[in-house]
Amino acid sequence: MRALRLHGDRDLRLEEVEPPPPPGPGEVQLRVRAVSLNHIDVWGWRGMAFAQRQLPLTVGAEASGEVVAVGEGVTGWAVGDRATPYGARTCGTCHACTSGRDNLCENVQGVAGFHVDGFAREVANWPARTLVKVPGNVTFEDAACSTVTFGTVEHMLFDNAKLQPGETILVQAAGSGIGSVAIRVAKALGCTVIATAGDEEKCAKAKELGADHVVNYSEKNFSTVARRVTDKRGVDVVFEHVGAATWSASLLSLRMGGRLVTCGSTSGVSADTNLMMIFQRQLHIFGSFGCRIENVRNAVAKMSAGIRPVLDTVVPLERFSEGLERLESRRVFGKIIVTL
Ligand SMILES: [Zn+2]
Repeated sequence: MRALRLHGDRDLRLEEVEPPPPPGPGEVQLRVRAVSLNHIDVWGWRGMAFAQRQLPLTVGAEASGEVVAVGEGVTGWAVGDRATPYGARTCGTCHACTSGRDNLCENVQGVAGFHVDGFAREVANWPARTLVKVPGNVTFEDAACSTVTFGTVEHMLFDNAKLQPGETILVQAAGSGIGSVAIRVAKALGCTVIATAGDEEKCAKAKELGADHVVNYSEKNFSTVARRVTDKRGVDVVFEHVGAATWSASLLSLRMGGRLVTCGSTSGVSADTNLMMIFQRQLHIFGSFGCRIENVRNAVAKMSAGIRPVLDTVVPLERFSEGLERLESRRVFGKIIVTL
């Protein structure tokens, strides 16, 4: 079967590999249909040591497919079911796992496509307990955005920042996979959305997604705009993942008692923080990493109800490099999908 494997930094190759054995106890076998490309597929997480990575490694942290075989002891799954796999190999037995906080698993074996083989291959075996069903009205392409993208947004906005209807939220980097979903989810909740983007074309697209106010951060100070839009009060929530370049101004954009939630640091991992501002203004900062399986279920349910992820490009596996180039270019708006 074909698999997309990482041999070194930015060295992705489409190769023939041995197909997996029949699914073991508790596993199902998935015929993968769509994989969404993420930066972790080519770089890992920027600023993070690569010591524990065994290369070559099949990439792909989020995907969708259909069940083609069911292992011993598996209930609730049948051949032909459509599914999206949770992207981490969790133990399923520790306190975090049994209380539904999967991304705090104490014995996690790793993230698919980063520590263990991922889903950019035609066939993959995966624990049935970490699969989420995908209804017929959600395409494989959309379903391939349900964990690292949509699930991450759900976890950030609702488990961590506890976003409420009617609140004002500043969403950084509207053109990113998570930024674009965050705009749609927050608008569907009835929030006022201020979005940032790096050029006029992306600003126009952010507006099309429903953002009420859009700031071209290369031209304007977004914290000034956030203050103006909220009558100097500041926003309730900041959705942050840009890191060093935006950190200080993101904190400055918050109201007294406001909440900042972050899941990334693409522009750099270290930033100055005014500690006096944190305690005097009673700010809350939430670190968010991945999501819970329940977040994936909610993500799929929202997609089924019409809140779709934003797809930039869909290419077949043999043309993955076009998708990759697009991902590496600054022009991308939304997700890059590879179909198998
Ligand atoms: Zn666990």
